[in-house]
Amino acid sequence: MKACVLQSPASIDSSPLAFIDVPVPEPGPDEILIRVHACGVCRTDLHVVEGELPPRKQPVIPGHQVVGTVTRTGAATRRFAVGARVGVAWLHRTCGVCEYCRSGRENLCDAPAFTGYTVDGGYAEYIVANERFAYPIPDGFSDMAAAPLLCAGIIGFRSLRVSGIQPGGTLGLYGFGAAAHVAIQVAHHWGIRVFAMTRDERHRQLARELGAAWAGAADAQPPYLIDAAIIFAPAGELVVSALRALKKGGTVALGGIYMSAIPPLDYNLLYHERVIRSVANNTRRDGEDFLRIAAEIPIHTQVQEFPLAEANAALRMLKHDAVRGAAVLRV
Ligand SMILES: [Zn+2]
Ligand SMILES: [Zn+2]
Repeated sequence: MKACVLQSPASIDSSPLAFIDVPVPEPGPDEILIRVHACGVCRTDLHVVEGELPPRKQPVIPGHQVVGTVTRTGAATRRFAVGARVGVAWLHRTCGVCEYCRSGRENLCDAPAFTGYTVDGGYAEYIVANERFAYPIPDGFSDMAAAPLLCAGIIGFRSLRVSGIQPGGTLGLYGFGAAAHVAIQVAHHWGIRVFAMTRDERHRQLARELGAAWAGAADAQPPYLIDAAIIFAPAGELVVSALRALKKGGTVALGGIYMSAIPPLDYNLLYHERVIRSVANNTRRDGEDFLRIAAEIPIHTQVQEFPLAEANAALRMLKHDAVRGAAVLRV
């Protein structure tokens, strides 16, 4: 099969992903083999490719927003039939026995596997997945439209939950890429006013088109104090900006897996019970709840399409804020 393979991390400017032939993976007893149709491109992929996340498997095929159809099933599987359309997300599997798995917090599992990082992902024609961690894809979405739901969407949704934002509240979104362009639609569905702070004018424009009440520069103060903030951009200094804009008792949720250093804080920015909280992975429950709500609303993803062979170019554009909405590889 064709795949985009990362031998070792390097700057995306050097096009480190090689488009080569590799063997089709074999599904284990509890796994399904999936013919990939679409794979979303996530900022985490960029962190894997450029080495901000330490390598866990080399070589590795990135990609963790996979939509495809089941072509083979392992001997012990029963959940999906051949031909079923499924999605594969970042959480490839968990141990099921650690204290986090046993207490409904499998996103914090001590021994997890992550798609496109510790195991091969979806920048390829085929992928294997544990059937218990795959998602049925709602019928209303095309393959291309569904792909960004699987990380940008799910993580955006978990970030909304972690932020504690309530219906009728005001929310600040810092960074307006793939995750924010989905999260704003969920927020509006819940009657929340959204302010968008982002460095690129094209992203501010997209935020306004999607109904943001206001859009300004990355470190701008929104016109009103906000009940909660979600920071999707990987820039630690935004934590300070968000705290300045935050009402007493509010939460700043950090939606990324990687962030540059957070500068020292004056305690009075944090005082009055403000909370800074990171978002790590997601539970399957988050994914199932989100996909149900996404179909109900329904969410409209804005997708910029690239052929599989152009994954380096897609990641370069993502790095330079040049993607409108979400980048997706057509496989
Ligand atoms: Zn576990
Ligand atoms: Zn992701």
